[in-house]
Amino acid sequence: MHRTVGIIGAGPAGIACAIQLRHCGVDFFLVSDGPPGGQLPNAFCIENYPGLKPMPGTVLANRFKKHLARLKISVIDQHIKTIRHNRQKDRFELHSEQDHFGCEYLVLATGTQPRRLAGCEIDGRTFYDCRPLFRVKDRTILIIGSGEAALDSALSLARRNKVTVFVKKKNSGGVAKRLLEQVVGNRRISIVRNSVLTKATSKGSEVELIVAGRRYLGHYLLVNIGRNPNVPQSDLSAGVGKWFICGAARTGRLGQTAMAVGDGISAAMQIFAGKSTCR
Ligand SMILES: Cc1cc2nc3c(=O)[nH]c(=O)nc-3n(C[C@H](O)[C@H](O)[C@H](O)COP(=O)(O)OP(=O)(O)OC[C@H]3O[C@@H](n4cnc5c(N)ncnc54)[C@H](O)[C@@H]3O)c2cc1C
Repeated sequence: MHRTVGIIGAGPAGIACAIQLRHCGVDFFLVSDGPPGGQLPNAFCIENYPGLKPMPGTVLANRFKKHLARLKISVIDQHIKTIRHNRQKDRFELHSEQDHFGCEYLVLATGTQPRRLAGCEIDGRTFYDCRPLFRVKDRTILIIGSGEAALDSALSLARRNKVTVFVKKKNSGGVAKRLLEQVVGNRRISIVRNSVLTKATSKGSEVELIVAGRRYLGHYLLVNIGRNPNVPQSDLSAGVGKWFICGAARTGRLGQTAMAVGDGISAAMQIFAGKSTCR
């Protein structure tokens, strides 16, 4: 498949870019592994998206999906493994397991990937993403992490479970006040501060954590210790204005949905303006 623009990632950034390109009449393909929405459905409640009342991330993600459907924009469900720039043809060549794609402009809206915690990976018990645990009920979930994503996930999972969050820092600097208040006020969530994990092991159907000499048992362990920008293996020797890194892939852990949307639209407009001046 060859199109003027190739967008990788159908989170808020990639979706916004696709919508704007359609608006401008520029042809593109949108390829993403997994369902549209990216990290958005993980969010307990999006309260900071201008113009919208607070709503769960799943609800906002559904609105984005409906917008794509209304414009008949389809998402190709594939994982892009490699990207190279073909200098002779001045185009990007993208490869997945199943297909290859070509485009003149490339938008990398590939989000972030979780930081791993060595020594904590217990098969079927340790998770880095809260979404697979959304169906779990009446269990004890242990969460390692001090940031907003860890506390936000605690709120989501405490709807149906008991949750203990192990916070490395003594204080909760860098966490939005509204979020912190909700976590502290939730009777199903316990916070263990100043905790440095020394060991995680499997104990039958449970996970055992040894933190500051104390033993904690839970059914599942969620590790939420930050996320790094995720950019597929790529050779991006093409000139400025031909490729863009958008959303969380650019901003990393500080990214917010509205920023990702703005980034996606900005890339689309720069591509549109570049093409218009070339004519
Ligand atoms: C728990 C949690 C709570 C949050 N709460 C809020 C909040 O309250 N308010 C707020 O504004 N924001 C919140 N956010 C942040 C928000 O979800 C992100 O800022 C936003 O999703 C970033 O959008 P993105 O499109 O840049 O990346 P992502 O949403 O990460 O989307 C990237 C997409 O690219 C796909 N992809 C990656 N690599 C490839 C590849 N090689 N091939 C094909 N596809 C690929 C991924 O599968 C994914 O679908 C929260 C995030 C989390 C995790």
